[in-house]
Amino acid sequence: MIITKKRDFKELMENIKNYRSFFLLGCSECSTLCGTGGEPELKAMKETLEAEGKKVTGAFVAKTGCQVLGTKVELKAFKDAVTEAECILVMSCGAGTQTAVELYEDKPVYPTNDSLFLGNMTRLQMFDERCSLCGKCILDKTGGICPVTACPKGLLNGPCGGTNEGKCEVSPDIECAWVRIYNRMKRLGKLEEMGKIAEPKDWAAHRKPMSLNARSHPEK
Ligand code: SF4
Ligand code: SF4
Repeated sequence: MIITKKRDFKELMENIKNYRSFFLLGCSECSTLCGTGGEPELKAMKETLEAEGKKVTGAFVAKTGCQVLGTKVELKAFKDAVTEAECILVMSCGAGTQTAVELYEDKPVYPTNDSLFLGNMTRLQMFDERCSLCGKCILDKTGGICPVTACPKGLLNGPCGGTNEGKCEVSPDIECAWVRIYNRMKRLGKLEEMGKIAEPKDWAAHRKPMSLNARSHPEK
């Protein structure tokens, strides 16, 4: 999921200081799990804005904010509230914000959150980055642990000389990704595969902006 955190409120208020009325748009998926854009957060934002003398014309938690067509259909029921608002505040990730930009070309749209990374939720509202969306996955060669993401240097052949008792030289709070990979490969009886030198990564697979038509994929 996309991990978000709330923006500094003063920064947000500076962005919207010239507007008096707002429509709030959240998302029931990632930002709900992050505690940044679900029902409780929209309710709290409404109360906060009203305490600041602003008007909230309506609020809605979209099923999947980055799904443009689905969100467009859902928002039809809020046509009047959106029209009445001078500005839309999107309480999901940057993708959700840009759904609103696409749907409401003539209306200012502002994010209330910063989008941080693709994360795994390990416990309630605790998230770890495990994949960098690099475009060409190497987990098949690294025992399923990603050094592009888990090693601060993104080393494809490791460990580096700084590893110390299983910890990373960048921070003692980080397990060395390559020690983890070694231990995993050993457990799987695949240590001999670690003797192969990985070629430099082809970062062309990560050229932005990425786009994909999944319907054009071959069946097999
Ligand atoms: S190699 Fe790492 S960053 Fe790239 S797709 Fe696989 S898990 Fe994600
Ligand atoms: S100690 Fe391990 S995780 Fe840290 S930079 Fe070196 S190889 Fe990467």
